[in-house]
Amino acid sequence: MYIGVEETHYEYRPRLIIWQLTSAGDLSGMQNAVLSQHECLLILDSIARFAKPIVVFTGPDITSRTDLHKIVSYGNTLGLKTIVEVKPDQLTANLAEQFHQFGSRVFRLTIDGCIDEDGEMRFKQTPSYLKLEGAVKLLREKKFEIHFSVKIDQPNLRKLGYYLDYAFRCNAQGLYCHLSFDKSIPEVAVGDGFSHSLDEFIGSISDMKYLVPNDMYFSPQCVKYIPYSVGDNGFDFSHSEHPRWIHCCLAGKSFAYIAEDGKVYMCSTRCKECGDLRENNYDFKRLWSSASILNLLRSYQRTCVQTRLLFKEHNILFNNHDVMINNLMEIKQ
Ligand code: SF4
Repeated sequence: MYIGVEETHYEYRPRLIIWQLTSAGDLSGMQNAVLSQHECLLILDSIARFAKPIVVFTGPDITSRTDLHKIVSYGNTLGLKTIVEVKPDQLTANLAEQFHQFGSRVFRLTIDGCIDEDGEMRFKQTPSYLKLEGAVKLLREKKFEIHFSVKIDQPNLRKLGYYLDYAFRCNAQGLYCHLSFDKSIPEVAVGDGFSHSLDEFIGSISDMKYLVPNDMYFSPQCVKYIPYSVGDNGFDFSHSEHPRWIHCCLAGKSFAYIAEDGKVYMCSTRCKECGDLRENNYDFKRLWSSASILNLLRSYQRTCVQTRLLFKEHNILFNNHDVMINNLMEIKQ
């Protein structure tokens, strides 16, 4: 499926920024690798002067940042909607009380690794599952809404179905999916009598939306679904049935990812660095507007697979739009 619809040019502004505040790696010997509180506030300032996106703070052991409350508070003061993603075992009564001032939706529980299917109990009663149950209970007691996030690093619909089932049974208001397919995940997998693609997987997520109540949010964070009608031009489906919805990658259009060291990427997988906020005087607008990769993504609407192939298989000249389009068309032939 190739989406070849040229978009009307207008000023693109971020609507969702995923911002990892802590590092997963060993930082010994890497002084100043992680943005300081002062640097974070400068970036928040520049974001708020430019747009009013939702900013989702995430990262391993995020609550170990003693300045987390100050950072979230500053974002709120600037009028940004801020969310903090925490693992179930990081949520304490004390943290819940501290952050309640930011509203009942400030927390998202990351449920990666907490849900495993079980033939008898539906969900395996593992220690991480029980911690999740405890965290949900705590959120309820403290009058928070229940929101979950999950990292999708494999196109595994069955696993996602169990996450969704759990969210539904908790009467959650949202399950937010971070698409995070590693480079090693094939865009299209072909086997004995089958073929499927990441795009089909993302399309199947939109079909699952019909299973959840209207007031429950369930979607990948970096795509938007748009309705498709048979009369539309420019589509080539590998299946006989056409989808009711197609998705477009939002990278560079309204989605960005900031890493703990201030580098900006188009995608949560950090597949393409777009620039460094430290080298741009912490000016998010300048980086967002001038990064050649982000500008390249704005010219056309592409699916996830098209976007990945654009960067993965072809050595594109980022400042040569015609070469890019020709290469992309060749991929589809
Ligand atoms: S390529 Fe686009 S749609 Fe795919 S995971 Fe990255 S940001 Fe999301």
